[in-house]
Amino acid sequence: MPELRKDIVKDAWVIIATEQALNPHDFPINKNGVHIGGSSLSCPFCAGNEALTTPEIAAVRNNNSRPNTPGWTVRVVSSKYSAFKLEGELSINDSEFYSTCNGLGQQEVIIGSPEHEVEFHNLPVDRIELVYRMLQQRYRALSADSRVKYIQIYKNKGLFAGASQEHSHTQLLALPMPPDNQQGLLTYFEQKKQCLLCVLMESEREENKRLVFESEYFFLFCPFASRFSYETWIIPKRHTEHFAEITEPEIKDLALTIKKFFNVMITLLNDPAYNIVINTAPVNVPYKEGHHWWLEINPRFLVRNGLEISSGYYINPVAPELAAALLREKINKE
Ligand SMILES: [Zn+2]
Ligand SMILES: [Zn+2]
Repeated sequence: MPELRKDIVKDAWVIIATEQALNPHDFPINKNGVHIGGSSLSCPFCAGNEALTTPEIAAVRNNNSRPNTPGWTVRVVSSKYSAFKLEGELSINDSEFYSTCNGLGQQEVIIGSPEHEVEFHNLPVDRIELVYRMLQQRYRALSADSRVKYIQIYKNKGLFAGASQEHSHTQLLALPMPPDNQQGLLTYFEQKKQCLLCVLMESEREENKRLVFESEYFFLFCPFASRFSYETWIIPKRHTEHFAEITEPEIKDLALTIKKFFNVMITLLNDPAYNIVINTAPVNVPYKEGHHWWLEINPRFLVRNGLEISSGYYINPVAPELAAALLREKINKE
């Protein structure tokens, strides 16, 4: 019988199959779903096609190369199709039925490789580090603007993860209001005066059912109420509220850990589509204690169905205990 489990961080319910599990190769869709299309000739993210993007905001470049020309390893541009603009004043209209907020913000694309064919998880560790260092730099720059209230970092890989460009990239969206998905952290702190994620890491270590791997600075586990099969959270062991607080040794360890995890996950799950998202504390809002940033890796095999859209209940056909056992076994052999 499946079980309904509560995600206490997100305050949401998930339906989990506890007895039978789909074999990684049983999923109806794999291999990123469908080919998205595009080639290196017309791709705006390829080296040589810099003129096809908006002017670059930041880049990691060879010594002599000029902005908006080849010679870069990481390049940041604003999203060409984004409606968000960091201009004017924040305007929130509260109304009984029709509340609105203007689209004040900025959407940026972090292109982690000038080569079209190179997937993020295939980058060498030092290049993954460059991407996270750039994300930290952009997070800091955007959070200095008091109109920005939240910075969402996310990566869509493959059509079933919502990617619209084949060329690997990560996105960063500065928003005028924080999302409502971390209430569990604040409520727990209000009641217990302790950080929920710090306590949860201890509990997962004791239970030892969903733990995948521990590196020097990070804790990897499949959460109790995983919404997606093989969903894995990477939590910094050091209590830090904002992603931007990550230190240099932590960035190095995170890149190494991500590489290690993907080496196992991509083979085990037959090259699935996936999302990487970072949950972090809001910025420029009245301070509330209880936040602790973390990164989620969510393999995507299925599109959201009617039940999920209507009730908000996700259905996960692979129990996180089984997923963690499989990942743990492979990762320990790495
Ligand atoms: Zn490309
Ligand atoms: Zn904490």
